[in-house]
Amino acid sequence: MTLFDVYPLNDITITKAQGSYVWDENGVQYLDLYGGHAVISIGHTHPHWVKRIEDQLEKIAFYSNSVHIPIQQELADKLGKVSGKEEYQLFLVNSGAEANENALKLASFHTGKKKIVAFNKAFHGRTSLAVAATDNKNIVAPVNETGNIDFLPFNDEAALKEYFQTNGDKVAAVIVEAIQGVGGINVASESFLQLIRRLCDANDALFIADEVQCGYGRSGKFFALDHAGVNADIYTMAKGMGNGFPVGGILIAPYIKPKHGMLGTTFGGNQLACAAALGVLEVIERDNLIEMTKQRGMYLINKLKSIDGIDNVRGKGLMIGFDVPEDLKDLRKKLLHDYFIFTGEAKPNVIRLLPALNITRKQVDEFLDTLNEAVAEMKAVVAHAE
Ligand code: PMP
Repeated sequence: MTLFDVYPLNDITITKAQGSYVWDENGVQYLDLYGGHAVISIGHTHPHWVKRIEDQLEKIAFYSNSVHIPIQQELADKLGKVSGKEEYQLFLVNSGAEANENALKLASFHTGKKKIVAFNKAFHGRTSLAVAATDNKNIVAPVNETGNIDFLPFNDEAALKEYFQTNGDKVAAVIVEAIQGVGGINVASESFLQLIRRLCDANDALFIADEVQCGYGRSGKFFALDHAGVNADIYTMAKGMGNGFPVGGILIAPYIKPKHGMLGTTFGGNQLACAAALGVLEVIERDNLIEMTKQRGMYLINKLKSIDGIDNVRGKGLMIGFDVPEDLKDLRKKLLHDYFIFTGEAKPNVIRLLPALNITRKQVDEFLDTLNEAVAEMKAVVAHAE
């Protein structure tokens, strides 16, 4: 049997990983500033996380949600403490798309309305509602076109106000990434997020913060929306929540009352996933990783801004993007193949950095030195050719 061939691959086989490093099958070491697409939060194969999973595996890996599962409450308590959202309710799922799917469905159940507002360049996942709210025509199948999703320009307050003037009463939810990830690291302005909050309040619509990529400490606060000083009605999470173990969740405000059977999942909240998620939170709390992320992020962003040749450095914490001009268009490939550094791509001309939250200062400096060298080398080649 062959694999369904849908992923454009780097021609690399990774067989081992630890902290911010991964190794290929020949033992070549790579510095990882991509984290398998923002998934690695506390570093690959973190010993505390491994132990948490191993200990749980010996007790019980799975029993269905038809019985009490105390480790779910343990996770909810820890998540409430670390995120500061103690009053919210936790519903556990397996992925980011599933989190958004349930959040959107719940908003429609709760409000009795159908319209969803999403934004240009948004990415919310590949299940039916999540993909319909994603601004990429290539991944929306005809069956996903519900006609219920309206896309508005990101960060455009006038357009949002105008839309709500005529359609506000029909809106069930606004779904937004406080920092767009796949769309190219676009930071929502605080006033834009505050306006969404006000318009949702005035129109009985729910504010859904998709924190699948920008959340869980990555922006230097637990949720990226926290920077704007407003709360969402529903937060969705996945990726960094499990550090590589598939687990996602949604935080639901206390005034949203689920009915039995409204949401459900077989695997969501299984004991093993909860142990992995607890392992992550314990390390985030113990090692003060959110504050560390903020500091490291400021350092990295400032240093990147001083590199001549890359443009428009942006982001918050350790969710950083920059534009690569045409003469450096192969920079990401060069970093990977010549310098053994993984970075992410958003568009061909945007490099995304999503390192582990506990990447060391030394590793950040190693990256910056290498980036400087690679940029200088590529510019010299271009200058020579001219
Ligand atoms: N929301 C955002 C903001 C994402 O970046 C992603 C994944 N790139 C998703 C949702 C979907 O997550 P998953 O792949 O776990 O379904």
